[in-house]
Amino acid sequence: MSAKIHINLMKFEENIDFLTNKLHQNGINVFAVSKVFCAEEPLIKILDQSKVDGIADSRILNLKKIISKKPKMLLRIPALSEVKDVIKYANISLNSEIEIIRSLNKIAKEENIIHQVILMIDLGDLREGIYYKDFDYDIINEILLLKNIKLLGIGTNLTCYGSVIPTESTYKLIENIKNNIERIYNYKLEVISGGNSSSIYLLNGNIPKYINQLRIGEGYVLGRETAYGRKIKGMNDDVFTLKVEIIELKEKPTLPVGLLGVDAFGKKVIYLDKGIIKRAILNVGKQDVFDEYLIPPKGISIIGSSSDHLIVEIENGKYNIGDKIIFKLNYGGVLALMSSPYVEKVYE
Ligand SMILES: *Cc1c(COP(=O)(O)O)cnc(C)c1O
Repeated sequence: MSAKIHINLMKFEENIDFLTNKLHQNGINVFAVSKVFCAEEPLIKILDQSKVDGIADSRILNLKKIISKKPKMLLRIPALSEVKDVIKYANISLNSEIEIIRSLNKIAKEENIIHQVILMIDLGDLREGIYYKDFDYDIINEILLLKNIKLLGIGTNLTCYGSVIPTESTYKLIENIKNNIERIYNYKLEVISGGNSSSIYLLNGNIPKYINQLRIGEGYVLGRETAYGRKIKGMNDDVFTLKVEIIELKEKPTLPVGLLGVDAFGKKVIYLDKGIIKRAILNVGKQDVFDEYLIPPKGISIIGSSSDHLIVEIENGKYNIGDKIIFKLNYGGVLALMSSPYVEKVYE
């Protein structure tokens, strides 16, 4: 048996229903983000039948395989070299460069369709978007003149590069830009797309009225908000779990013996001497997932890993060769394991 990622579809559906209802009750539309699970079909089916308002992914390859009646949104700002595919596979795209929006317009015109654009504003997190202090309202004028582009709204992304947590004062910056656009051009922006799972913590009545859309991935997948990393009451944190097998079980010292150099990844490691411990080797390694993304069950702690071996300490509990160990995962764990061809995906 190779390492397996187990995906509990019922728990996923429960998470989708729970959080979508909560968002809708707060007047917020939601695009469910499928990139962390590579837009795999069984999960997309659940989204398609749910109340989410659309499906969003950062990669065109994923959007291409999504079969759904819901609108599809491209999250990563498009490359100039892929605008044809953007027009073909996405109804909406997030954008920050006028050159690319012009190019989208050109292709949309050839295809005789209207492509919808959300213009991204960088409120200080310093990833994509026009920096809020440098916002030049002429760009709106130009976009509004493009016949095959509809300016659906403006948006922002937070807590990704710069770790900026959405707050009322950060959101004020986008409200100002929204108000100015609507006043100068007498044009109603349908969508103010306020961010990702780091905005969930504001859903207790603290999300500003003008924010009417979020794009949610991690919240649905792991049942937690990402501003403070807290579990959301009523949601499942074990939709995705890793199941691996004990392939060696021995007592060994904690201190390596001999002259020490670097580990398999070229790192100089400091080893603490805890004497002899009970250890197990599990059949998963860094080629599948980095060990910092795994959450071990009670009584087991992670010591380290190489490409193909995960070494754990058995602190308590009775185990045998061939026993299976189940780990919960954090975001990087789901991402890596779902992307790995070596990991079997088991839907249950
Ligand atoms: C990945 C992504 C999201 C979803 O983020 P989560 O933290 O998983 O909710 C939203 N917006 C953009 C632009 C993204 O790239």
